[in-house]
Amino acid sequence: MLSYPPLRWLAPARLLLLLLIAQLSVLAASVAAESSQSAPAAPADADTEFVYVPRVGIQVGHWHQDQLPSEQARIRRDSGTYRQGVDEWELNYMVAERAQPILAAAGVQVDLLPATIPPGYRADAFVSLHFDGVDPSIADLRRGWKITTPYLASPNSLLLEQSFREVYPAITGLPYDENHGSLVSVRANYTFAWYRFEHAIAPETPAVLIELAFSTHPDEWILINEQPELLAEGVAQSILRYLEQFDPYQTLNRRPPYYPRYTPREPMSLYDWPNDQSAAIKQIAPGNRLLVMREQAGWYLVFVRGTWDLGWVPAEALQRIPNDHRNR
Ligand SMILES: [Zn+2]
Repeated sequence: MLSYPPLRWLAPARLLLLLLIAQLSVLAASVAAESSQSAPAAPADADTEFVYVPRVGIQVGHWHQDQLPSEQARIRRDSGTYRQGVDEWELNYMVAERAQPILAAAGVQVDLLPATIPPGYRADAFVSLHFDGVDPSIADLRRGWKITTPYLASPNSLLLEQSFREVYPAITGLPYDENHGSLVSVRANYTFAWYRFEHAIAPETPAVLIELAFSTHPDEWILINEQPELLAEGVAQSILRYLEQFDPYQTLNRRPPYYPRYTPREPMSLYDWPNDQSAAIKQIAPGNRLLVMREQAGWYLVFVRGTWDLGWVPAEALQRIPNDHRNR
């Protein structure tokens, strides 16, 4: 007689197994139901449409500035403006944390970034938030907001800047601060300086830096503290205006202008302005590598590689360095 396992214990075991399978399938069904709630499946007979989710980085200026990597150690102490016991980063954060949900509700993926930028950060827009401030003796004289792109601005960066110029003042009522000599150095802000640092945005990331208002102006200080949501609305709606016009597939619009590396033909001056009557900043010589940041009427605005010297040189006095494609 063939020996079978006694049915006495086999039957309950089978029953248990069946119950287990049944429970697992109930579980699987409920998981499927839950995930279909968060991402509804396209109807099987419809054309599945790919939805592009734009990604935007909002940098809270000076947030954890003291934690900048060693390549940016010299600016770790730049904590920005300060007023009545409040550091600039706290004001920047107040606006950023209110802008984020407005953008998220519109389907935008938002990264809130501290001072340290992930190496080669990529996004469809990068917006660095700051407030300006001046010495108390002239606090009443300076007010308003201002914005800049990087020196090497892609068409998308210019579009982002234009969207802010159209929308931000309309929402906040703030005037534009035309008296902004300080923006010259802001264009070379470390977050934009992919030609110098690893912890910077990728060259293809459209970017602006905005000074939202003057924390030192009495009226604007009240606005900042009593209506931060108005400034946040201004930021979020400016970004949404940009995204309406932004085409993620037009990769040419992401590219900043390209210049080859140059060196002077002979020893010469680096000038303060694009004419040789202006002050000479320093002497440069063949062998100095020059990174072009801007072009104007036959002159180049250049960084002297490996230094922080920025000045103008006539383009005709330069020669191209062959086969120099290094970014930094
Ligand atoms: Zn700042």
